[in-house]
Amino acid sequence: MTKITEMDPGEVFSILDDTDDLVGREYEEERKLFDNLSCPRCGSSVVASLDASNPFSESRNVPNYFADCLGCGCRFDPRTGRFLKMGNPR
Ligand SMILES: [Zn+2]
Repeated sequence: MTKITEMDPGEVFSILDDTDDLVGREYEEERKLFDNLSCPRCGSSVVASLDASNPFSESRNVPNYFADCLGCGCRFDPRTGRFLKMGNPR
């Protein structure tokens, strides 16, 4: 049986202090994109929904998300504006 030895958390954080944050900036940009996003068809709020068929791209460090409208139920790509599913605006 292999014995696992955990690293000292202080040592881990000191190592990470010297590395570039590759995910934080992109994560914040993604969060701001969705915070300021509304449905182009009905104006309702949207929630981020993981693109399960293509969860990661080579050019990005954060997962790919679609926007799901809470009002009409449509789904669209917030970066391209392309609709993947049309909803029913009231
Ligand atoms: Zn909508």
